[in-house]
Amino acid sequence: MLEIKNLRATVGGKEILKGVNLTINDGEVHAIMGPNGAGKSTLSYAICGKDGYEITDGSVIYNGKNLLDMEPHERAGEGLFLGFQYPVEIPGVSNMTFLRTALNSQRRYRGEEEISAVDFLKLVRSCAKDLDMDPEMLKRPVNVGFSGGEKKRNEMVQMAVLDPSLAVLDETDSGLDIDALRIVADGINRLRGAKKSILMITHYQRLLDYVVPDMVHVLAKGRIVKSGDKNLALQLEQDGYAGLGIEETAA
Ligand code: ADP
Ligand code: MG
Ligand code: MG
Repeated sequence: MLEIKNLRATVGGKEILKGVNLTINDGEVHAIMGPNGAGKSTLSYAICGKDGYEITDGSVIYNGKNLLDMEPHERAGEGLFLGFQYPVEIPGVSNMTFLRTALNSQRRYRGEEEISAVDFLKLVRSCAKDLDMDPEMLKRPVNVGFSGGEKKRNEMVQMAVLDPSLAVLDETDSGLDIDALRIVADGINRLRGAKKSILMITHYQRLLDYVVPDMVHVLAKGRIVKSGDKNLALQLEQDGYAGLGIEETAA
């Protein structure tokens, strides 16, 4: 279970998160929506421990431990996965090498043995197959020259291989055509079936047609101002943020 309590964070000297509270139980999918500049990406960066995001108050308790006290790689070892709005390119490092290094680093953190080359190959090929990725892409440098859709698909393969217990996905759906959107939804739904906790950050309702959330929260000006079930997303789509009395200005 993930419990975010009174989280406050400052970026570049400016307070962006102004006391965020959120609880996600195991097996639940929560969506965070909100106008541009509301602090959605800041929330995901604060959870994963990105440099430059200063936490000034609050806690992020995951399975009884405060993630905020940990280094980013330790958070990953605890089972956290962050999907980026703009997946990074890593020239010179193949997808295979990247995934195996990440997986083994998490295993070492947990006191487990490294995965054998044979088992790793089986795992990564089966994840690629499940998500319809051409296995040749596993040999290419991470995301280099990938189209937008291919990057998102790659991210879903990464997620499947690392098998996180908590996934935070920041606008994983942005800029996708309908086929790519289905792939992303499929990746998320597979994880969901395995009873993991998922936080989906999205600007649009569209993804929520394919991954129906247990709860929807609206983040505006650094706070969660409204929570509800999937109907809240539909209502937002129909009436806009203004229709809910939410100002569309930055945090
Ligand atoms: P969202 O993801 O909801 O669109 P962000 O979390 O990206 O919003 O940004 C929230 C606010 O933080 C915005 O006003 C943005 O301009 C500001 N911000 C983000 N990064 C920085 C930074 N490095 N320095 C100063 N302000 C920043
Ligand atoms: Mg934005
Ligand atoms: Mg964002």
